[in-house]
Amino acid sequence: MTSPLFGIDLGGTKIEGVVLMPDGSEVLRHRVATPFGNYEATLQAIGALINHLEQQCGRACQRVGIGIPGSVSPQTGLVRNANSTWLNGRNLPGDLTRLVGREIRVNNDANCLALSEIRDGAARGATSVFAVILGTGVGGGLVIDNKIVTGAHGLGGEWGHVPLAHETPRETACYCGRYYCNEMFLSGPSIVAAYGRKSGKKVPNVQAVAKDADAGEPLAIDVLATFGQRLARALGVIVNIVDPEVIILAGGVSNLDGLVENLAHDLGPHIFASAGDGPDNGVEIPIKRAQWGDSSGVRGAARLWEDVT
Ligand SMILES: [Zn+2]
Repeated sequence: MTSPLFGIDLGGTKIEGVVLMPDGSEVLRHRVATPFGNYEATLQAIGALINHLEQQCGRACQRVGIGIPGSVSPQTGLVRNANSTWLNGRNLPGDLTRLVGREIRVNNDANCLALSEIRDGAARGATSVFAVILGTGVGGGLVIDNKIVTGAHGLGGEWGHVPLAHETPRETACYCGRYYCNEMFLSGPSIVAAYGRKSGKKVPNVQAVAKDADAGEPLAIDVLATFGQRLARALGVIVNIVDPEVIILAGGVSNLDGLVENLAHDLGPHIFASAGDGPDNGVEIPIKRAQWGDSSGVRGAARLWEDVT
């Protein structure tokens, strides 16, 4: 009998677990709240979730893949760059292995997204994909020849903290300490803040900015147009380095109406193709929304052990 894959997506507000068959069918899914700011309680919650999944599906779990909003240093084994900052500096793989008695693989959540989408999602059949999360934070994940490009130092795909070209200095630094990170311009909160600076209006989220734009508010239209141009510029850098076969967008901001269609047009001038620098340069990279939406991360986490089970 085919063994099921167990995956966990450790987010800032919730921890989601899935039992996934290699053919992509989900046996079971369950989510619990993340114990905010508490590392020990987070470990306990993951352990309890694994036990719950195992009991509910009636199958033994020997290995678990875990996606996190950060990365594990291959040199030290410690988590870093997590915006769930209580994970940083901790040996999450080692501590979890000791606590739950299973083999653990940890990878970045955007890498898990990319893996999920190339296996059986919107990038199925491609040999390479670059996937981005545009949400509260911004992240990127790269899969080439069906393998996550984790990198020599675990930094592969860390697109959220690549500096965005052509931007003027900001007084506010990113949480990582840098000033021009993509995340500072492409996250949901950054779009809301940009609209607030221009209009003096306080709106709760990107959807509210989009609603104002739909109603004809010129400042909202301008903020979203600028966001689209910035996203194209930030992705152009990736295209000119790795030239992925497909680009995948996920996260709340990716649901903006027209984003994919506009991006397909706006990306052209940033691609270094021989026919010139216009949008009609003969290079068309399919840009798609994640087929599995918010569930793609946990499905990709389960697939971190696919080569073994
Ligand atoms: Zn940053």
